[in-house]
Amino acid sequence: GEIYLNGAYLAPDQAMVSVLDRGFLFGDGVYEVIPAYGGRPLRAREHIERLANSLRGIGMQEPLSLAEWSAIFDRLLAPAPETDQALYLQVTRGVAPTRDHRYPAHATPTVMAMAKPMQPRDRGIAERGVSAVIRDDIRWHRCDIKTTALVAAVMLRQAAAEAGAEEAILVRDGLALEGSTSNLFVVSGGQLSTPAKGPLLLPGITRDLVLELAAQAGIPYREDAIPVETLQSADEVWITSSTREVMPVTRLDGEPVGSGRPGPVWQQIDAHYQRFKADARGA
Ligand code: PMP
Repeated sequence: GEIYLNGAYLAPDQAMVSVLDRGFLFGDGVYEVIPAYGGRPLRAREHIERLANSLRGIGMQEPLSLAEWSAIFDRLLAPAPETDQALYLQVTRGVAPTRDHRYPAHATPTVMAMAKPMQPRDRGIAERGVSAVIRDDIRWHRCDIKTTALVAAVMLRQAAAEAGAEEAILVRDGLALEGSTSNLFVVSGGQLSTPAKGPLLLPGITRDLVLELAAQAGIPYREDAIPVETLQSADEVWITSSTREVMPVTRLDGEPVGSGRPGPVWQQIDAHYQRFKADARGA
């Protein structure tokens, strides 16, 4: 489909950015991924607010309003209104005449967005779950900023793939924080918990939605530190993200999690999540 770039809608092979773009030179930019069901972006306002926070974090202004973003999303989603799609949007600090780390005095941000089909969840995942590995969190200390500077996450996700796992769950100072591309939930001793928001993890939109659904379902939860030992002995482990929804982790470093099957609390939350999605789709 078309790609939105700086106000224009272009064929992918026409959508080009300068090699002097600071996104290319420094990873000096931020991004979002927004799921869209039946042509309707899910939680667009929350995603655009998080984008604004990321931009503020790197000293940039919002290039577009929510209404302007929404008009772009409508146009990008229009060619496949029945298909579930993921919107990708990226804002970099733009092109500067010389390679200098310091923010340029005058630069026009590079603003890009595109949509791609989102595969429906593999049936086996609800039945068998996925496997994850535990890794040291080698990322920086501002993981609340959704930056395009992703090489640490790239290395970690690759390490997981090479270990035959879906995700790497990241541990810093003995605490499990999130996955390389997802947030983390555990059920331990009958208690659902997820780490509290802070600079060391991304405030996931799916995470917040899952907590809302848990509250509505009367499932109590805690936003609290998860020691790695709690993770390793948990009855249930889930990872969440906009494209994965709520995914049960049933093997951790090769060992079964709890019963080794997706657990009862996951079943309950996933049912609520699927209903929420269907409502969002307008079914
Ligand atoms: N943490 C990290 C590091 C991520 O990359 C992602 C996915 N973008 C998430 C958490 C999940 O966030 P969301 O639910 O907003 O997709």
